[in-house]
Parts: sequence; structure tokens; C-alpha cells
Amino acid sequence: MDSQRKFFVIGNWKMNVDKSRIDSIVKFMTAASLDPTTEAVVGCPSCYLSYARQQLPNNIGVAAQNCYKVAKGNFSGEISAAMIEDCGCEWVILGHPERRTIFHEPDDLIREKVTHALKSGLKVVACVCETKEDRDEGRTWQVLEAQMASLASSISDWSRVVIAFEALWASNTGILATNNQVQEVLSQLRQWLRHNVSHSVADTTRIIYAGSVSSDNCQQMARLADLDGFLVGSAALRTDIIDIINARG
Ligand code: PGA
Repeated sequence: MDSQRKFFVIGNWKMNVDKSRIDSIVKFMTAASLDPTTEAVVGCPSCYLSYARQQLPNNIGVAAQNCYKVAKGNFSGEISAAMIEDCGCEWVILGHPERRTIFHEPDDLIREKVTHALKSGLKVVACVCETKEDRDEGRTWQVLEAQMASLASSISDWSRVVIAFEALWASNTGILATNNQVQEVLSQLRQWLRHNVSHSVADTTRIIYAGSVSSDNCQQMARLADLDGFLVGSAALRTDIIDIINARG
């Protein structure tokens, strides 16, 4: 963690909330004392974006979990960046590993979505990920580099981008990534930015980690040199998210 980069924690609710669950999460998040030096955001299903925005205080941002690559048109089931903004939200998660693997979103589509979202004025959590097979077969960096190169070609304003690295093999599998494994990848991602974008982008872009982050492992990981925060799934539905937001305390 570097003081040029504000610690960033996004709790991704995925498809696991309804209004009453949102109410209970909002209740414990607003009752807690949150580290003001952490930027806290929640990732909300699109149908509840306005609701979550209305219920949460302004110091907690709200992100959509996806959006399409154009502003409007005949694309049933999709939402645009402008619609997210119209719901009062300023963030979108793009290229989430579940979009990449379950819904087979290719790099090109994710790149177009990132271009559209940034052009519309949204801030983007752009995800890259590796699977168990990637790691077992020794192609982690090859896979991540391809994803980074594709993303980078769509980004002109890096100040509105957070890069999230997810070790898919460590997400809800009972296997945890070690601090060394996480730091190794985050440092490679930062070096990639340094060599392929610029020194200042490498120094200022936040790179966060995802993969079963919880109350139990967040404090140790928060001390890693190249880690600037977390993308949190299951623990974001529990009071763990408070400890994770406050992990550097
Ligand atoms: P997890 O999910 O924290 O439950 O592993 C992270 C994510 O996929 O966003």
C-alpha cells in the first residue's frame, strides 16, 4: 500500500440480496465506524441500484455489477452506463470472473464495455482473473497479461479505474491464496503498468485482490506492498465487511 493510493474496498453482493437483506447490511454498515481513509463501495444487482443508493450514506459508493457497451437500443436484458448514473451510482464492475467464466464474456467485449463506461463518466472496477487450471499449468501470467493488454487498450483515464485481480481457485473453494502468491501477482500487474502504460499510472492505480477475503485474512494481506484493497464476495454479506474496510487500522 502506498499513500498515493487510497485504500479501496468493494463488497460485491452478487445475486445474493433482496430489499430486506440490503436493509440489514445497510443497518450494520451505517452503525459501524468505518475508516475514513478507505474508499468503500458496494456492488449491487441492477434492479436495486436506486434503492441501495437511497439507503446508504454518501461515504459508501454504489456500483453496478455489469453494463453493456452502448448507451441505448434494442438489447433486452442489458443496462447502460447512463442508466447506472441515472440511478445515482458512479461505479461499475466489469469483467468480473463470473462474467468471464459463467457467461463467457471475452476480452474484446469487456474492453468495449470499459470504453463505454469510462466515456459515459462512470468509474470502473476492471477485473482480471486466473483459474485453477491456469495456475496448475503455469500460465497465470500469460493469461493475466492478455487480459491486462486488452483492458489497457480501452483506458485513457486511469484515474477512474481500479484493477481487481481474482484468484478464482481461491474463491469459495476452501483454499486460500498465500500472502506471497497474492503479492507476486499484484507486483507483476504493477510492473506491467509501469512498462506498458507509464510510471505514474503504475504508481497511482489501485490494484486490489479478490478470493475469499474475510475478517480472518484481511489484516495480514492489507500490509502487502502492492495491495490497495479488496473485492469481497461472501464476506460482504456479513459484518466481516466492516473489518475488511478497517483492515489497516
Ligand atoms: P469471494 O468472492 O470473496 O466470495 O471469494 C469474490 C468475488 O468473486 O467478487
